[in-house]
Amino acid sequence: MPLHLFNSLARKVEPFEPHDPRRVTVYACGPTVYSHVHIGNWSLSIVSDFVVRWLRESGYPVVYAQNITDVEDKIIRDAQAAGMDRATFTRGWTDKYLAGMDTLGCTPQVNHFPRATDYVHGMVAMIQTLLDKGHAYLADDGSIYFRIASFPTYGELANLDRNTLQAGASGRVQADEYDKESVGDFALWKGYVETDGDVFWKPTFTVGGAARVVKGRPGWHIECSAMSSALLGPSIDIHLGGEDLLFPHHQNEIAQSEAALGQRPFVRYWMHHKHLLVNGAKMSKSKGNFFTLQDLFERYGSKIAPAFRLLILSGHYRKSLDFTFAGLEAAAKTLLNLREARERFARTAAGAAPSAFADAALATFVAALDEDLNGAEALAALHGLVGEANRHARDERLAAADAAAVVTLIDKADRVFGLRLASGARELSADQQALVDARAAARLARDWAEADRLRDVLAEVGILVKDGKDGQEITFV
Ligand SMILES: [Zn+2]
Repeated sequence: MPLHLFNSLARKVEPFEPHDPRRVTVYACGPTVYSHVHIGNWSLSIVSDFVVRWLRESGYPVVYAQNITDVEDKIIRDAQAAGMDRATFTRGWTDKYLAGMDTLGCTPQVNHFPRATDYVHGMVAMIQTLLDKGHAYLADDGSIYFRIASFPTYGELANLDRNTLQAGASGRVQADEYDKESVGDFALWKGYVETDGDVFWKPTFTVGGAARVVKGRPGWHIECSAMSSALLGPSIDIHLGGEDLLFPHHQNEIAQSEAALGQRPFVRYWMHHKHLLVNGAKMSKSKGNFFTLQDLFERYGSKIAPAFRLLILSGHYRKSLDFTFAGLEAAAKTLLNLREARERFARTAAGAAPSAFADAALATFVAALDEDLNGAEALAALHGLVGEANRHARDERLAAADAAAVVTLIDKADRVFGLRLASGARELSADQQALVDARAAARLARDWAEADRLRDVLAEVGILVKDGKDGQEITFV
């Protein structure tokens, strides 16, 4: 059976039929870079990575983009509180995020990490098109809004009945995030207000035939529409995001993209990841169950990263997974057992060609992942096979060719789940190496502040840098 995915738009599991099987396009909403990313958001990065890995393992050529939101309400607020300009503030958090992506093994799958501020010209062009087509208007508060009355299918993704919705007093919402009760025309371009400080652009829009400079900044929703169309085209195959983004963010992305680009559907398959629970409850700072990746690394070292992946992917992405430290430790143990099993079977295999020993387990493994990425069932098939092979090995009945078949399936699982089973030793990734190199350069230039900053960035992901007599010494925590 070919790949089937649960599509939030259709609200059912559907066969996956990409627009062009020679170029499958995938977009995931990435982080807003203003603080540490919590493990719930990391779980989304891992799930998105897993989906792309399975597509590639299944032979689809994928182009995968995950954006970085570096201008948004909360960024402006927190950059000011930190006494920093927006660019410096977001660069620091972006570096930390990308370093975490590396440690989690998510970076190699990503083709593009677009930063919103690099695409403002595209956002302005898209907003102009919406103005020209009557889908947008410049309001008296100096902001440009999307007119949802001009878009008859507004609400279809979130399953909203527009007639029963209450609009705000003005019929408009300016904030980037809001709930279903305040549905209304949403801001595409936010007119400048004093609290924006030095965060503004001054594009010229044509409004009602007249040129108007509208000082301000893009709304959050238009960022994703502009970046996805620039990199992946007007219609994309798979769009991933957390369930909390379904409304308003993804609904607004649909409205903007379809109205401006004239292609429907904007997204063929919407995949939404259910929130991670921690110790049985929604994560919150007040409950004391709010954790970042750094918290896990401080406790276990960054070598825990593959176990965290295994834990996240051992559940189903559409069901709430309850994160606990006991669960993480159990995953680390499972991983150790798998790694040892692989080593033992590889020795038994001694280069033999694989037999049909793993065929049934392989078929179950593939079928489970093809049925809307059922990682739990795929892993159960793998563990079942390893158990069976262990029993044979104990009775000295495991042929070299059978052991080779087991290793082949373990390696397939390793590629898809990203568990680093085959390589015990850690190495710096390309991006981490670049950070180490940049720090060396900063030291040579006697830029101690920058060297310290990069040391902190590396420490965040469990890489300690010490200055020895021969230069920097690297240790993995
Ligand atoms: Zn988005």
